[in-house]
Amino acid sequence: MTDEVADADLVALPKAHLHLHLTGGMRHATLIELAQRSAVRLPERLVDEVPDDWRLLGWPRFQRLYDLARGVLRTAADIERLLREIAEDEAAAGSKWLELQITPSGYAARLGDLVTAMEVFCAGAAAAETATGVGVRLIIAANRTRPPWEAETQARLAVRFREHGVIGFGLSNDERQGPPEQYAKAFRIAREGGLAAMPHAGELLGAESVARSVAAFQPVRIGHGVRAVEDPAVLALLAQRRIACEVCPASNVALGVVGGHEEVPIRTLEEAGVPVVLAADDPLLFGSGLVEQYAAVRDLLGYSRADLARIAAASFRHSTAPPGVIEAAMADIERWRDHAAGGPT
Ligand SMILES: [Zn+2]
Repeated sequence: MTDEVADADLVALPKAHLHLHLTGGMRHATLIELAQRSAVRLPERLVDEVPDDWRLLGWPRFQRLYDLARGVLRTAADIERLLREIAEDEAAAGSKWLELQITPSGYAARLGDLVTAMEVFCAGAAAAETATGVGVRLIIAANRTRPPWEAETQARLAVRFREHGVIGFGLSNDERQGPPEQYAKAFRIAREGGLAAMPHAGELLGAESVARSVAAFQPVRIGHGVRAVEDPAVLALLAQRRIACEVCPASNVALGVVGGHEEVPIRTLEEAGVPVVLAADDPLLFGSGLVEQYAAVRDLLGYSRADLARIAAASFRHSTAPPGVIEAAMADIERWRDHAAGGPT
């Protein structure tokens, strides 16, 4: 038996995808088509086919391009199409379960109001799941450049739609703005309403931001969290509470969080006992999907078949998927791990 893992094997490995943003999951061809229809003029960087590696894209530029891309989504039909295409791409990547981040406040005006926007998102997610077989659940991510009351409104909205596909509450955008404590109340509303806390932290700021987010939000997972490695005490905190880090290598490289793929500190996190899952964050802007993240840790960090299987298993274990989905995935991942490369999986 050889330990070699081919790209096709990475597709065959069952995976859960736990950190993907709605606009960032859009196909490039769909972006171009919808921009032409809506007469939105895109900057050259978005019109050109996205390169493999947008090294040092930088945060302000990233955020500007993201907002421009989001501007092409105008109607309920656009959202339904986007959700279906995202689920189709997940299925093609061997992903069985998707937890997708949405920020409904960004769509409320276009779709009518916040509640109408949520109805569109939930119906679209359910239809995408039916069409592809990929479990699609939603995380409402508040925008940390907006005031806390807006996050609290979205937390109440998230709870209201808990029976309709919303499983978590998050916090995204520029970590350097909006200290965690300001949003503690919003997360308390979400948790008391039965939702899991999944904020971004430890990306643009260091380990202290991770520790403060753990204290303020009581999260089950941290979006990124890679800079927790700057403080052994914070690593120990994550390990002790079994809080998983959603590590997105291509994103970290593109935004300059690390100097290169080989510096993404997955081994350090794992060696400290911190659960790690791999995710793509925004494939539209970083030019790299879920399978490519697994390929990157295989090629640049020397992760073996057993290592990759462990990461895939963690992605289900730290998801909100029902026990039946997790058990089936664990059995399939074990078979994949024990199978010689090149054979049927
Ligand atoms: Zn993110």
